[in-house]
Amino acid sequence: MTMSVKSSLILAASLLALSACQPAVQSKASPEVKTQKQTQATPLQPTAPLRIEPGKKAKNVILFIGDGMGVSTITAARIFDGQSKGMSGEDNKLSFERFPEIAMVRTYNLDAQVPDSAGTASAINTGKRTQIGKINVQPDSLYAGCAKSTATPPPLFADIVEQSGGAVGVVSTARLTHATPAAVYGHAKSRGWERDSKLGRDGTEHGCLDFARQLVAYDKGDGLDVALGGGRANFLPKDKDGKRKDGMDLTQAWREKGAEHVYVADEAGFKSLKPEQGLKVLGLFSPSHMSYAVDRDSAQQPSLTEMTEFAIRNLQAQTKGKDQGYYLMVEAGRIDHAHHATNAYRALSDTQELSRAVAAADALTSDEDTLILVTADHSHVFTMAGYPKIGNPIMGLVHPPSDDESGHGPSLDSDGLPYTTLGYQNGPNVRGKTPLSEEQVEDKDYRQQAAVRRPSETHGGEDVILFAKGPGSRNVHGVIDQYQIFDIMREALGLNEKKK
Ligand SMILES: [Zn+2]
Repeated sequence: MTMSVKSSLILAASLLALSACQPAVQSKASPEVKTQKQTQATPLQPTAPLRIEPGKKAKNVILFIGDGMGVSTITAARIFDGQSKGMSGEDNKLSFERFPEIAMVRTYNLDAQVPDSAGTASAINTGKRTQIGKINVQPDSLYAGCAKSTATPPPLFADIVEQSGGAVGVVSTARLTHATPAAVYGHAKSRGWERDSKLGRDGTEHGCLDFARQLVAYDKGDGLDVALGGGRANFLPKDKDGKRKDGMDLTQAWREKGAEHVYVADEAGFKSLKPEQGLKVLGLFSPSHMSYAVDRDSAQQPSLTEMTEFAIRNLQAQTKGKDQGYYLMVEAGRIDHAHHATNAYRALSDTQELSRAVAAADALTSDEDTLILVTADHSHVFTMAGYPKIGNPIMGLVHPPSDDESGHGPSLDSDGLPYTTLGYQNGPNVRGKTPLSEEQVEDKDYRQQAAVRRPSETHGGEDVILFAKGPGSRNVHGVIDQYQIFDIMREALGLNEKKK
């Protein structure tokens, strides 16, 4: 028991260390240049024109992003979820698999065949591809938005919603300054600029702000309306258990924005708030990322589903009686982190939690006025293979369909060793010569095997799926480019350029 708790803690710590999935980003100052190649790589026209649905506009858009939730993750999580309910699993459906519309989404970054979350989130929030590791800036204006740059950053979807009188919310189990949530409200040449001490000489010399400051300073419309997630240390100075070197307490700065601005740091504070009050809530429930779903202490942190429900009710209250509704981005941010550690159990259980959050959002909203989108920013090199029999435990060793009659036990590889259904193309746990046991591989801390040794498993480059329901969802069809999600959301709200 003690051992299991201890090893779990060690794993949790190492998963946190591995969770820095950002690619090597050049930190030296680089000139703002646009190359011919980069220009050519950005098709300006959507590959498929949007379908216009007159008279049927959405009031609200809720965008769910399962960070790193590729197709193999969805399939395995569907079985994981079904088996956790006593089913065989293969015929189970996650909540969003019942949505009527889907599209395949190409995810590459301007300069990278296999993308990262910064470039992909930028495409979704600006309607333009950008480079890996960059957030909402283009190659010809990398310092746009910084005090010493004259360049204007591309407008964000949140800006368009705020400027039309709507409200904007962001929810994530990752730090609110991490790439996917940061792309809702911020701009930066480097996704690493999460707090002042991470800006480096480059960011400081150009007068750039870190993401924690950008979140609080966001000033389109009436600013961000609700923000719930992790990353508290990036908002607080060192003498208040934070990591900021500039001495700023940004939670105080948030409260000083107005009487309706409140800040909560734990489950007790969260539970004391009523979403119907429509207050502007900043909730920072962990110094860094929030816990994985299976590790969460419900006395300390709300679940992704609880944060999603709160944000929707809160935004409904804030936009009640108004023509324009809200844009809410909800990220299951740690599916990605578990995959980077080749810990399939936590990747699948966090996907299961995302499915619950989507179901809750669907129950709280109407198909008449709310477009719900569910997608991934990118995939992972996660595979499900080896001819296991129907109903074989998804975390388990492969047993062939003939095993029921022969009773010979698990399938063996060419070295005479059993193997698991789930595995990774690369990662830290390269396949060895020691036989695996069922007990070992079904443990929640087990790290599935990889073919290529790397300290952290990588993203995958194949397309991801976009699921949709509600007004404007008919544009979700065929094979699309990731930046078209921006166009789909804007068209759904009737905020396309022709109308603006
Ligand atoms: Zn990642």
